Amino acid sequence: MTELGVVGAAGRMGMRIVALAAASDEFSVVEAVDRDDCPHTGRDAGELAGVGSLGVTVSDMITGHPDVVIDFSLPEGTMAFLPACREKGIAMVIGTTGLTESQLAEIADTAGEIPIVRASNFSMGINLLIKLAGEVAVALGDDYDIEITETHHRFKKDAPSGTAVALARSICGATGREYADAATFGRSGAQPREAGEIGMHAVRLGDTIGEHSVYFGNLGETVTLAHAAHTRDTFVRGALRAAKWVTGRKPGLYDMRDVLGI
Ligand code: NAD
Repeated sequence: MTELGVVGAAGRMGMRIVALAAASDEFSVVEAVDRDDCPHTGRDAGELAGVGSLGVTVSDMITGHPDVVIDFSLPEGTMAFLPACREKGIAMVIGTTGLTESQLAEIADTAGEIPIVRASNFSMGINLLIKLAGEVAVALGDDYDIEITETHHRFKKDAPSGTAVALARSICGATGREYADAATFGRSGAQPREAGEIGMHAVRLGDTIGEHSVYFGNLGETVTLAHAAHTRDTFVRGALRAAKWVTGRKPGLYDMRDVLGI
């Protein structure tokens, strides 16, 4: 039985992680943490997640020693709990998006001492799409314009989504572009398309869980790679799979493609 800690336990993702882990015979939820001014501090994490009492109270610090911590919070949350996991030698699965370059560098540095799986999207389908996007871009060649759209619920704080960035980075890596030069965020006014750019467009709409499309177009056709997540549990199942995979592994920074072996 893998002992699990959940950071962001009172959030949309955190509650489903608690619920699915509690329903699994492979995990035991032993810690549930959230920010210090979270209105749910002191409540039972299982009751909060709608699965009945687990005897684990939502608190604001990791007090014990779970085998692995899954973090879906905000960048402040990830960075607040990273040192504790490093100090205690606890493996991590990080799903939080919107991390800055310097925060990513700190995570990479910490991965020198503990195993960490970080992914901007834990769905199997999206990880396959990230791989395919680069391959399709290479196969189609320079004459195809590339645009990426992503749609998420109205509460999403960061834009473009981490997944849209991962898709763009995969294309950049495969085609020799620099992400910082190629990515163009929306268009307004006189802004004609430049050769080689990757247009990134964020739509915020109602309760959409997560949709991504990568368009490749030339003067005769459009090729579209598309993915839609219908439930957050898709990401939760992937994160739990990653948690199982990373537990006991040697230190290093891994992503979901390592977990899936694709
Ligand atoms: P949410 O706002 O519902 O939940 C976030 C939780 O984190 C809240 O309970 C909040 O109180 C808590 N939190 C905020 N600051 C904290 C801190 N300093 N310490 C501890 N806890 C803190 O958001 P959500 O929809 O559950 O998404 C959470 C994160 O996961 C976002 O970054 C989102 O983009 C990301 N996400 C990633 C994937 C993926 O597959 N990688 C999928 C869905 C969501």
